[in-house]
Parts: sequence; structure tokens; C-alpha cells
Amino acid sequence: MPIFLRIALDVPVAIATGDGLYDYRWPGAAEVGQLVIVPFGSRRLVGLIVEIAEATTIEPARLRDAIAIVEGLSPLSAEWLELVRFAARYYHRSLGEVALPSLPSPLRQADRYTMSPPSADGTFSAYLPSIARAIKRAERMAPAERKAGHDEAVAEAVELNAMQAEALAVILEARTSATPLLPILLYGVTGSGKTEVYLRATAHTIAAGLQALVLVPEINLTPQLEETFRQRLPHARVASLHSGHADGQRLHQWWLAHEGKVDVLLGTRLAVLASMPRLGLIVVDEEHDASYKQQEGLRYSARDLAIVRATRGSERQGREAQAIPVVLASATPSMETWARAEQGRYRKAVLSKRASSDASLPTIRLVPLLHAKIQHGLTGAVHEAIADRVARREPVLVFHNRRGYAPVLACGACGWLSDCPRCSVHAVFHQADRRLHCHHCGWQQRVPRACPSCGNTDLAAIGRGTQRVEESLRSLFPSARIARIDRDSTRKKGAASSLLEAVHLGDLDILVGTQMLAKGHDFRNVTLVCVLDADSALYSHDFRASERLFSNLMQVAGRAGRGGARSGEAEVLIQTLAPEHPLFGALVRHDFTRFAASLLDERRRAGLPPFSHQAVLRAEGKTAEDALAFLDASRTEGTRIADELGSSDKVTLYDPVPMTIARIAGVERAQLLIESTVRPAFHAFLDAWLASLQAARARTRWHIEVDPLDI
Ligand code: ADP
Ligand code: ZN
Ligand code: ZN
Repeated sequence: MPIFLRIALDVPVAIATGDGLYDYRWPGAAEVGQLVIVPFGSRRLVGLIVEIAEATTIEPARLRDAIAIVEGLSPLSAEWLELVRFAARYYHRSLGEVALPSLPSPLRQADRYTMSPPSADGTFSAYLPSIARAIKRAERMAPAERKAGHDEAVAEAVELNAMQAEALAVILEARTSATPLLPILLYGVTGSGKTEVYLRATAHTIAAGLQALVLVPEINLTPQLEETFRQRLPHARVASLHSGHADGQRLHQWWLAHEGKVDVLLGTRLAVLASMPRLGLIVVDEEHDASYKQQEGLRYSARDLAIVRATRGSERQGREAQAIPVVLASATPSMETWARAEQGRYRKAVLSKRASSDASLPTIRLVPLLHAKIQHGLTGAVHEAIADRVARREPVLVFHNRRGYAPVLACGACGWLSDCPRCSVHAVFHQADRRLHCHHCGWQQRVPRACPSCGNTDLAAIGRGTQRVEESLRSLFPSARIARIDRDSTRKKGAASSLLEAVHLGDLDILVGTQMLAKGHDFRNVTLVCVLDADSALYSHDFRASERLFSNLMQVAGRAGRGGARSGEAEVLIQTLAPEHPLFGALVRHDFTRFAASLLDERRRAGLPPFSHQAVLRAEGKTAEDALAFLDASRTEGTRIADELGSSDKVTLYDPVPMTIARIAGVERAQLLIESTVRPAFHAFLDAWLASLQAARARTRWHIEVDPLDI
């Protein structure tokens, strides 16, 4: 008797059966969670078996046989399937659009597989040669005695302070507590020893025979953290998963985690969807970081999915088994997280001072730009402070969140500006290669010798980016060893790590850079951080701009005074035109709590997230009118559907507007904001609305983003 496989495929959902699954006949044995190769039109696709049924509603003439079941791979677990099912529902995609892209790419390519000879029942299976080799290698290796449990003692090399011990207890307690699992916010000032706490929790998890998943925002942070884990947990099997790996490497690391052959998986956002059969702990370090949000394709938040994964996973394991604690660590939690912690929906564990006895929080000073004498963008105060440190050979960090040499090139004679021909932004002048670069579409061109519009040869570079700051510092401090860290200077693999390492080793006097400087690095010898210009974010129309600015500044400031003889004198100098601004007031007092309270108060009054839920429908067209017309029609349809569902008082559809950067690479973009305070009504509305938009098969390209960060 053949069975019917109900399969998720990574294809647009509109042509699938009602639940987005595709039915195939299969004359042999199969299991839910296995991968399978199937014919699709004239192609072969890799799919995921989600259900096995004894009957199908597909008419016999249209029903096809699956080609082969993938062997050499354990079935994906029910826990994992539930995670991707949730993500599909929440972000309004088909299961296949979520599940398949989360797998390493070789697994998803049907033509990479080799067919095995048919089995007794005449059915075929297929295998990936690289996985077959990995299995052989694993078998050849002597079945080493598992010693990971022994690491607990090694991990205890550093004695936890009372606050850390308390935080660790909270995490460990969550594993066995009888009440439903609450996510844990590990809120601790920079350098308070959060890493130490979750490292210890990881050691306990491994000792219990379980796996830990540790997420970090930046690929550049994985080597340092990986090193720490390997040192402190020498018997643990550590793997990492991020987009810097080549395909084969990524497949291998994924496979090790999936087969339970690693104890700790470190990774960037994509690792949240990794398959881990014995998951026992999830850590999201720097949980506030925007890079946890995927900005294309499936626009998910890895932090939010981590929480879902832990809480649902715990529920399904039931009381007898251990729960999966989820730890969100940050010195500047996102407003979403902070609000939930304040409401008691998350447990809070607080580390209120720096851990190391020779470390203290730096003094933050505001340096007024108004009426100041400024040379090369530096006030006298900043100039002096840098000169002082350079003389003492203490490295200085200069934070400037704008790369390139100058944001725009201008002609003083006719007003010409170096606009990108394909986008509605200026192309940025880069001195290093003397080219104009568009940071949005990649367009570039040699810097014109004369104004393309009037022929004037005297073009001016307006404003400053990191390259110009670097140049200024070189002319002001000719004997200092200076380097720059930003996306341009770190294209080569390992470049970022070696620059950061140079600071550790004292091989650099000044490191200027974008927010790459700010991310989680533990510098022991930095006593001065300078911020040349932080003001533009104060006046942004994005309601999240001040949250982001505060957290950025707090994080860069956090790089100073982390240890060493002079850390008590560590300083952060911030040049600003608005020293009276309340944001700076809170920053100077290191008062995140007060700042967060006032932000949340504003958000509550304005009905903004986290006090409402948002989604945006975005459309792209050749002209702005096309995109806006599609959104207008969608809005009309949305209003009708909201009425029909009786939710018109719960869901607000705003007027469509062009996006802040309306044109990128010749495509006009517009968006429509949808807002609601009632989550179930919101998602029910989105379901119905998107189904209707899909059915309409408009020629306009569009997508939906739930919980957008940039609107
Ligand atoms: P965070 O993650 O909160 O920024 P880290 O965990 O990186 O902080 O710790 C900052 C520094 O303090 C590190 O150098 C770490 O080794 C040190 N540290 C952490 N916990 C302790 C402790 N209990 N005693 C002494 N030093 C500690
Ligand atoms: Zn001109
Ligand atoms: Zn462009």
C-alpha cells in the first residue's frame, strides 16, 4: 500500500494545496522530518516530509511519486518542526519558505545528491557524498570517552561574585522549575561579567548531557567567543554557524549540531533555526542588537524566535524533562524586552557593577561644539585628551558611525551634488580608491576631475566619514600608530579580528571606527573613547533612533575602563551641539533605567511598539505611482476585510507613503503601515488580507514584514 507524503517545498505558496503542503505518493517507508527529492514541473526539488497520510485529496492523474528519501541524516525533530511552523505562521509565509532556506544550501540542492541502489521494496534513497564522508570520519575516530561533564570544574576557574552567582542560580532554577518557563533578562552594565555567567550556565547544561545554543550579533565576535569557550570548556565540542563559512563548512557544522555531535553551537541569527536534538539552553547575547533581525527574505527576529523555541520546546518536553532556559543578555536591553521584564513577563537578573576588581565605569563628559575652537573636527578638549593617552601609550578609540571619506561631493559654483544615478541618496566619496560609492546599491564611479554639470574643477568634500577622520588624526598626531575599522577596511577575512587584537596587544595608539568598535569587545587597556558627532540621530523621525543612539553610545563607552592600572581614570568624551539633551543627561549618569522609563512612557502615550504591534506591506515599482497605486488598492481591500472580520476598531491601516529612501537601484519603493494592539486579531487580519492579495496575483512585487525595525 503506498503512503502519501505531505511535503513542504520552497516555492510560492499560492499554487499549493490549502495548507501550503504538496502531496506525493510513496510506495515504501518514510518518516516525518526526513528530506525527500521530488519532481516539481520539469525540475527536481528537495522537500521536507511534514505529514504522512493514508489518503489524499489530489486526483490520481495529477499525483506523482516522490523520487528518493534522503539517507544519512536523522529526521528533523518534532521540536524543530514546531519552531519553523510557528515562524511560518507568525511571519505569514509557507512552511517550506521558512523550513528549507534555514537548511545549509547543499542539502537543498537536488542535483548534489547521489542515488543509492534501490532497496528491497524497489524504492530509492539518496545521499550527499560530503555527509557520507563525515559519517565515515566520525566512525573511524575512536569512540572517545565523553568528558564534557568534567568541564564544570575548569569553568569555575573564575570565582563568581554574589550578583553573578544569583544570576546563575536563576538560570539553573529555570531548568527544573514547575511553573511555566519565563525568559530571563540578564541585565548587566558593560563588563559586569555576563559572559562569565552564561559560560557557567553552558557548562552545567553540557554536564547534564544537553546542548547549548549561544547567539551573538556579529560574525566578528564569534572567533573571540569561540576561543573563550574552547579554553574554558576544553572537553566540550564547540561548533559555529554563521554566513562567513563556505557552503561545505557550514553544512558540516550544521550536521554536527543536528546529529547531536556538538555540545555548544555559537552562531549569528541564522543559527536560531539550527536543528539541535538535545537543546538545553539558549543564550542571546547583546539581545538589543538590530542584526538579530533578518532584513530580507524571511524577515524574522532571531531573538524572538529564540524565546519561542525555548518556551514551546520546554512545554512539549513536559515536566519530567528539563526546560530550556532562554537568557537575553544586554547592558542596554531593547524596549520590547525591557517592557516585558518590567511587566513581570520575563525574569530579571541584574549585575549592577563591573566584575573585575580593577575595573569601574568610565566618566562620560559632554564636550559642547557650539563656540568651541575646532580643528579637523576635533575640539581642544578631545585633542588634548587624545594627545595625553598617546603620550602614555594607552590606546584610544574614536567612534564615528559613518564610513567613507565624505558623505557627499559638491560643486560650489553650480550646486551639483554627487547623487547616485540609481538611488535617491548621495554617493559617498571614498578617498582610498578615489571613487564615489553608493552605499545602497553598490554603484561606483571614479571621482570626476571637474563638475559634470558646469566644469568647475574645485569640487568640495562635504562632511566627514571614518576615512577623513583617520586622515585628520594622522595630521594631528603624526607619530601615533593609527588604524581604521569599518566595513571597508575589514573586507578580508580576519581583518577585523586582527585590528581588535592589535588594540589588545598595545600595537595601536588610535583605532577609529564605526559601531564595529562597540560590539562586545573586552579591551583591558583602553582608557579613552571619543565620539566626534552623535547629533544627527537626535533629530531623526524614526521613533527608534534615540533608543539606538543611547545603546550605541553606552556600548562604545563600555569599551573604556574595563581593567588595568589606570581604568579608574577612564573617560568617554562626546562632542555635541546639544549637551542639554535629556538623552545625554541619562548617559552621563549611566542611567539606563531612567532613560528606558521615559522612552516607554513616550511610546505608551503614542501607542507605539512595544505597546502596539506593527507590520508593513512594501511594494516596489518602476514608478512611485505604480507602487503607491498597489498599496492604495491593498488598503481598500484591507479595510473591507477588517470590516468583514469585525476588527476595524482593532486594526489601523495607515496611508501608503514612499519609503525614506524612495528609490534604490532604479526601483521605487513605498510602504503601508498596519498597527494593532490586539495580537490575535492582528494576525487573523493579516492572514485573510495576504491570502486575498496573493489570490489577486498583482504584477507589483510586494512583501510583508511583521515587527519591522525600520519604518
Ligand atoms: P560583559 O559580558 O558583561 O561585558 P564579561 O563577562 O566580558 O562582561 O566580563 C568583563 C571582564 O570581567 C572580563 O575580563 C572577565 O574576565 C572579568 N570577570 C568576569 N567575572 C569576573 C569575576 N567574577 N571576577 C573577576 N573578573 C571577572
Ligand atoms: Zn558645477
Ligand atoms: Zn545607488
